[in-house]
Amino acid sequence: MTKILYAGNPDEWDEYRIQMQTALRNAGLNMLISNQYEDPKNVEYMLYAPNGPVQDLTPFTNLKLVQSLWAGVEVPLANETITQPLARMVDIGMSIGMSDYVMGQVLRHHLRTDKFSHAEIGDWDMSPPPLSIDRTVAFLGLGALGTYCAQKVADYGFRTIGWSRSLKSIDTIASFSGDDGLQTVLEQADIIVLLLPNTPHTTNIINADLIARMKDGVAIINPGRGPLIDDDALLAALDSGKVSGATLDVFRTEPLPVDHRYWTHPNVLVTPHVASSTRIDSASKIVVENIRRGEHGEAFLHLVDRSAGY
Ligand code: NDP
Repeated sequence: MTKILYAGNPDEWDEYRIQMQTALRNAGLNMLISNQYEDPKNVEYMLYAPNGPVQDLTPFTNLKLVQSLWAGVEVPLANETITQPLARMVDIGMSIGMSDYVMGQVLRHHLRTDKFSHAEIGDWDMSPPPLSIDRTVAFLGLGALGTYCAQKVADYGFRTIGWSRSLKSIDTIASFSGDDGLQTVLEQADIIVLLLPNTPHTTNIINADLIARMKDGVAIINPGRGPLIDDDALLAALDSGKVSGATLDVFRTEPLPVDHRYWTHPNVLVTPHVASSTRIDSASKIVVENIRRGEHGEAFLHLVDRSAGY
C-alpha cells in the first residue's frame, strides 16, 4: 500500500528512492516510498514536480500534503486539481548553489570582467574598480534564497540591501518594503539581484519606469523568473547604457528562442536556467521532516500561501 508516492521526474527516481529511504529510516519512520500505486486513495504524501507523471490529482482524495520538489510554484498553483496543502522546496543544497551563482555574477559585474573580455588588443586601462565595501548590492526578494545569497554577499563585504513584502530583521542587510522602500533601494543599488517569485504583483516589475529610477550603469542579475522583466525595456536600457550589463538565467520562453536579442547583446550573459536546482540528498531530509510532521499532527514547513501566489 503506497502512502508516500514519488511523482517527480522519472529520471531522478532511483536517487530519490535511496535518499528518501535513508532519511525515513534516520527519522525513525517505518514507511516506504514508491513510484507506483494501486489505489490513489491510499496515498497520503505526494512528491510532486511539474515535469512528473501525475498532473491530475483528483483521484488522490486522502492526500495530507503535496510536497513540490521545485522552489518555484507557478505550475502547481495553476493546477486546479491540487487543492491539498502544498509545500514548496526550501533546500540548503539549492540555497548554496544559488549563492555560488549569485556571488560569481556579482563579482563579474563588480570587477567589470566583460569590459576586459570585449577589449581591443592593446587596450591598457589601469583604472581600478571601486572596492566591494563601496558598492551596494540590492536583492529584490528576501525569501529563502534571497536571504541566503544576500548574507553571503554581505559577508564578502558588499553593502547589501533588500526589498520584500514584509520587513526583515537581518544583522548585515538593510531591509525595505513598500513603494517608498523600493524607491530607496533603486536609488542606492549598483547591482540588483532578482529573487522574487512570478506573481500578478511582480510580473514586469522591472519595466521602463523602474529602470529610469535606477542608478546609471546599474547591473541586473535575474535568477528569479523571466516574466519579472519587461524584455523590451531592459534591451532599450542596455542599448542606451543606462543598464551596464545583465546576467539572465530565466526567460518568458524557455529555452530562450535562438533569434532573441539577448543571445547577441554584448552586455548580456545568458545562462540556461542553471542558477540552482534541488539537491536530492538534502531535499530528501526536508521532505521527510514534513512527512514526520504530518504523522505527528504538526504544522507543515514551507506551505504555499495561495492568496499571495507564492
Ligand atoms: P520565497 O518564496 O522564499 O521568497 C520570495 C521573496 O519574494 C520573499 O522575500 C517575498 O516577500 C518576496 N516577494 C514576493 N512578492 C513580493 C512583492 N509583491 N513585493 C515585494 N516582495 C515580494 O522564494 P525563494 O527565495 O525560495 O525563491 C525565489 C525564486 O527563485 C523562486 O520563486 C523561483 O522563481 C526562483 N528560483 C530560480 C531557480 C533557478 O535555477 N533560476 C532555482 C530556484 C528558485 P516576503 O518575505 O515578505 O514574503
